[in-house]
Amino acid sequence: MNKQRLKAWGFPLEKLFVAAGPCSAETEKQVLATARALAGHGLGFFRSGIWKPRTRPGCFEGVGREGLAWMDRARAETGLKIGTEVAEPSHVEACLEYNLDALWVGARTTTNPFSVQAIADALRGTDIPVFVKNPMSADIGLWIGAIERLANAGLTRLAAIHRGFSSSLEMRYRNAPAWKIPIELMRRMPDLPILCDPSHICGKAGLVPTIAQEAMDLLFDGLMVEVHPDPPHALSDAAQQLTPEQFLSMIDHLERPSEKSNDATFANHLSKLRENVDDIDSQMLELLGKRMEVVREMGRLKTQQNVSTLQPGRWKEILADRVRKGIGLDLSEEFVLQIMQSIHEEAILQQEADRVEGAE
Ligand code: PEP
Ligand code: MN
Repeated sequence: MNKQRLKAWGFPLEKLFVAAGPCSAETEKQVLATARALAGHGLGFFRSGIWKPRTRPGCFEGVGREGLAWMDRARAETGLKIGTEVAEPSHVEACLEYNLDALWVGARTTTNPFSVQAIADALRGTDIPVFVKNPMSADIGLWIGAIERLANAGLTRLAAIHRGFSSSLEMRYRNAPAWKIPIELMRRMPDLPILCDPSHICGKAGLVPTIAQEAMDLLFDGLMVEVHPDPPHALSDAAQQLTPEQFLSMIDHLERPSEKSNDATFANHLSKLRENVDDIDSQMLELLGKRMEVVREMGRLKTQQNVSTLQPGRWKEILADRVRKGIGLDLSEEFVLQIMQSIHEEAILQQEADRVEGAE
């Protein structure tokens, strides 16, 4: 939990850190109306896109520099801090001129190390807080690489934003949450504050509160949420933006679980259950070790007979059988497939290693 770090960087912090505001600045009136509706609620910063990375040309591509003047006016009037997305050095220069309080690097930009490096170079010598969104694809290396490029340019106020990953599969969400990736980022960079952007994960306003709550349950430090005074008429991301009222009610209703509890009965019960889990894990590992021994023996037998390591027919049967059994045990098909595929991969590696060793 690194939300105190965000506070140390000068951002207001109440129940949680939230950056909120429209996907895009559209008119001065819209920027001011949204900022007024959000002022006085402990917002971390007011967000608004000025240069919009659109998938296809001809869509609304943002109002450009003029929008910075509108945001600056909104800040002067409401006292809110302000932040926007930068995708190239000219954006950085304009934002520094207007003395923005925060910047973020968008998902499309994080995907491209050349762009991230150019932004990092343009920021050298400043220490403005920069929030780095995950890349479009589920590649944690690219995400960490972008953060490292900014850190190497001397920036110390860095944070991450999880906005989901694009996928070719039909799904409920616009971008797959794939929580294991931000959780792995928390493990690898424990001092890095991390926000969740439920708007871009969901793609639909109605789903946003559920994903926001899930982020709270997973101990994210805060949120970035798209809020528009008239979502159906928004010039970008109309389906996913909340009205200020919907946003404030969502924040009010979010439960913020803590990592620990001092209740002795709870602690006792939890520690018994944890012992159980530890035991089961030991048994699983011992069984896996035994299974690998049998697999290696099978490998030696196959080598003697000059039979191939991979036996596609048998593998197909195993998968179908284990998925059927797994489903009977309340395990999902996807989970059983993942586990069995990992086990099979290791089995083949071990049989092959023996085969090579035997031939030497
Ligand atoms: C945005 O925040 O409006 C945006 C374009 O987000 P992303 O980079 O996550 O797509
Ligand atoms: Mn958007």
